[in-house]
Amino acid sequence: MKKKFLLPEDEIPENWYNITADMPNKPLPPLNRVTKESIGPEALTPLFPQELIKQEFSTEKWISIPDEVREIYKIWRPTPMFRAHSLEKALDTPARIFYKYEGVSPSGSHKPNTAVPQAYYNKQAGVKRITTETGAGQWGSALSFACQHFGIFCEVYMVKVSYYQKPYRKVMMNTWKANVYPSPSELTKAGRKILEKDPNSPGSLGIAISEAVERAASDKETKYALGSVLNHVLLHQTIIGLEAVKQMEQAGYMPDVVIAPFGGGSNFAGLAFPFLRFNFEKGANIRCVASEPASCPKLTRGQFRYDFGDTVGLTPLLPMYTLGHQFVPAPIHAGGLRYHGAGVIVSQLLKDQLIEARAHHQLECFKAGTLFAQTEGIIPAPEATHGIATAIYEAKKAKEEGVPKTILFNLCGHGNFDMQAYENYFSGKLVEHELNQGEIEASLAGIEKVE
Ligand SMILES: *Cc1c(COP(=O)(O)O)cnc(C)c1O
Repeated sequence: MKKKFLLPEDEIPENWYNITADMPNKPLPPLNRVTKESIGPEALTPLFPQELIKQEFSTEKWISIPDEVREIYKIWRPTPMFRAHSLEKALDTPARIFYKYEGVSPSGSHKPNTAVPQAYYNKQAGVKRITTETGAGQWGSALSFACQHFGIFCEVYMVKVSYYQKPYRKVMMNTWKANVYPSPSELTKAGRKILEKDPNSPGSLGIAISEAVERAASDKETKYALGSVLNHVLLHQTIIGLEAVKQMEQAGYMPDVVIAPFGGGSNFAGLAFPFLRFNFEKGANIRCVASEPASCPKLTRGQFRYDFGDTVGLTPLLPMYTLGHQFVPAPIHAGGLRYHGAGVIVSQLLKDQLIEARAHHQLECFKAGTLFAQTEGIIPAPEATHGIATAIYEAKKAKEEGVPKTILFNLCGHGNFDMQAYENYFSGKLVEHELNQGEIEASLAGIEKVE
């Protein structure tokens, strides 16, 4: 019984796949937040280098991966794919379960797949410093690693509660020479304004974004980087699925269903888009399912609206599934999935019913993650347990129906820094968060409907 599917180094893909070339309905344009007119590439020049802006608006189907980026990818890519024989046995399911493992990257998740090219294009453009925000620390550490490689200063605004709750993520960033500040900080106008009102503010991702953007916008040699949601970020992540297609061929099966956890949509897009390509090009019928937390259910209970990407309302208006930009999800452990909205491309695909979504409660996810660790050995990140929960749901359905379907999911990160979360689960401290319809409706009131 073969368990592991590996590719040689020289099979790292040479191009990323841009799904907008194949989409039946192209994504709607972003709008200026004041005039409500559609904005073009020039609106983004204070924040991002030209090459990334070009990718953001590109409709070219294949975008070539620079050799220097492929060289760094070789540190951990191609990533392995596994057949989860032991999990299948524990579930007594006729389904074949495969997973692609992105936790082998330097920072332990899929995020360096985009951090590296983003740092590279910034370096090419002569940028000296990159600012960003981080919640749980996954994105901050990926970007710190990438910036250090290219000799770019990295400045990370880390949500203050996480800064104190996850000290080892901060030390990891420091090891890669990044400066990490608890946000809100005294370094920006946005931070000082919040601190003036509430010196004990625990911070939020929205506040940290405002600080990082302010720093980048006010200095010529400084740019900003985002770890998910945007089109160019999704594009870079397609390297996951392009490799996975080859590995499934090696395994001798094509998946019937492809599953990935969903925060802003980048690792889901990364695994799923190269499989959706077979649906577009060859009329295949591969189901792609995004897994989200029941306490932050933008895909399953949100609405398709024009909304802000940040809490404060500084970004352009984006056409996306959202719970409202001021929605504050319960403090679940899957910090990387606590985002109010979804990427524009993924939102359009969901609206057109070309992809599906499924929500899971926190306890179900930790139960799934623990079973996975006990059968397959790897302890998954709390975010990653959502994909496992969906995979188990599909495997049980296969058993009921007596159909030997093939399931592929993205194990997007390991949970080795998340032992506190597991301890809370084992000691019964984790609670379910019920979200009632009234809360969602209140949060969406006043948010621009799409005509
Ligand atoms: C950031 C993160 C996510 C969610 O982000 P996406 O943009 O939806 O991919 C999921 N899992 C892990 C381990 C993460 O670090």
